[in-house]
Amino acid sequence: EVRVRFAPSPTGNLHVGGARTALFNYLFARSNGGKFILRIEDTDLERSTKESEEAMLNDLMWLGLDWDEGPGVGGEYGPYRQSERTSLYKQYAENLLNSGHVYRCFCSNEELEKMKERAQQLQLPPVYTGKWATASDREIQEELGKMTPYTYRYRVPKEGILKINDLIRGEVSWSLDTLGDFVILRSNGQPVYNFCVTVDDATMRVSHVIRAEEHLPNTLRQALIYQALGFTMPSFAHVSLILAPDRSKLSKRHGATSVGQFREMGYLPKAMVNYLALLGWGDGTDNEFFTMDQLVEKFSISRVNKSGAVFDSTKLRWMNGQHLRTLPSEELSQILGERWKSMGLLVDSGGMFVKEATELLKDGIDLVTDADAVLSNLLSYPLESTLASAECKPVVEDKLFDLATSLLSAYDSGELLEALKAGPIGWQNWVKNFGKQLKRKGKSLFMPLRLLLTGKLHGPEMGGSIILIYKAGICGVISPQAS
Ligand code: GLU
Repeated sequence: EVRVRFAPSPTGNLHVGGARTALFNYLFARSNGGKFILRIEDTDLERSTKESEEAMLNDLMWLGLDWDEGPGVGGEYGPYRQSERTSLYKQYAENLLNSGHVYRCFCSNEELEKMKERAQQLQLPPVYTGKWATASDREIQEELGKMTPYTYRYRVPKEGILKINDLIRGEVSWSLDTLGDFVILRSNGQPVYNFCVTVDDATMRVSHVIRAEEHLPNTLRQALIYQALGFTMPSFAHVSLILAPDRSKLSKRHGATSVGQFREMGYLPKAMVNYLALLGWGDGTDNEFFTMDQLVEKFSISRVNKSGAVFDSTKLRWMNGQHLRTLPSEELSQILGERWKSMGLLVDSGGMFVKEATELLKDGIDLVTDADAVLSNLLSYPLESTLASAECKPVVEDKLFDLATSLLSAYDSGELLEALKAGPIGWQNWVKNFGKQLKRKGKSLFMPLRLLLTGKLHGPEMGGSIILIYKAGICGVISPQAS
């Protein structure tokens, strides 16, 4: 059975890198009919917070990465928080002590420091060279009697090669002679990170460990612990780093990097998921547009690239536009309506007006927030200052004044409003006539007209825009009251 896990440490926000790891695990589980487990790695009590855990769970749910086992869901192999599994780690540490895979080490910190210095001077690897690997029972009992603090050390074979076959990186091997006996349980009884992860992966019956490349070095110790515990080793897949466009490690200084930030910016979870999947994966064709169902159908770990993937926020933005336009109109207008209402742009979040505004604006936007400015401008553009603005200058020099005067009188006489009542046809007829009277057509008619009516040289289709303004009942903005 395929069982994979996402194992975040709740010490901050869910970043795009973590989200991509979670997604690859999720897709792997779903495409193989397996289970997706969520495990919270909160052994670092100082840095782990409940708030962070909650935020991460929310972000995962928002992305649609629902887990089969884990916090809030339960499961046969729980608990799913490391902080609640301490007794299990201790139990397995005892087992390893009894089987001789680990031994008690009574070395003091000073002794260990000295060993390190000596190794450094001799330019040898800093491996443990103390006596406790081979101490006699009597020596051990003596220290125990004195209550000397001790750690549990893993007895590493003095030589040999450890190999794993990484599903993404191929064969990876380590030589054991430089590793040295490492601690799995500290003298205060705290198990070390690599030990917890291994006990968890083994006892949760994880079949495939798919995680970030930065954990590759940990795999050596984890594999040794696996062997000692007597569990079959899982398959490993180490996913490459996510890079900034300049190929440095992606960080805060490159802009938004956490899932929550993108959600607040108005990104759609579908677009996020699609874009994250493309960070290191593709289906082998030019196609880049995938729904979650399509990803589940197409995903395969063997197509995951081993080189770093560049995070391109411009492309993510573009991709959001692609997904936004595939939303059913109802859904998009609901999202936009609620935004506009909460922003104080509209009094109502629904109705025909919101639907028509959505239809008018949707082709020109990539993010839902892009529509806000266009709409708010349509609803409240300042004609007077527009006429005086730099953007307007070239148009003013193009005898805008005549056009403006005619436009205003068409408005004053009620002729324009009457035409708009008839919708798009009414507008088309009116604008044709208007152009004829002024002997203007094409750009010289539409550019200044658009500027006067909407305050911008570019924007959504003009007839639709002006009808929308009319419907919003604020055609008054083009009345001459200010002059
Ligand atoms: N808790 C680790 C992290 O947040 C993940 C460890 C693992 O996947 O093995 O990076």
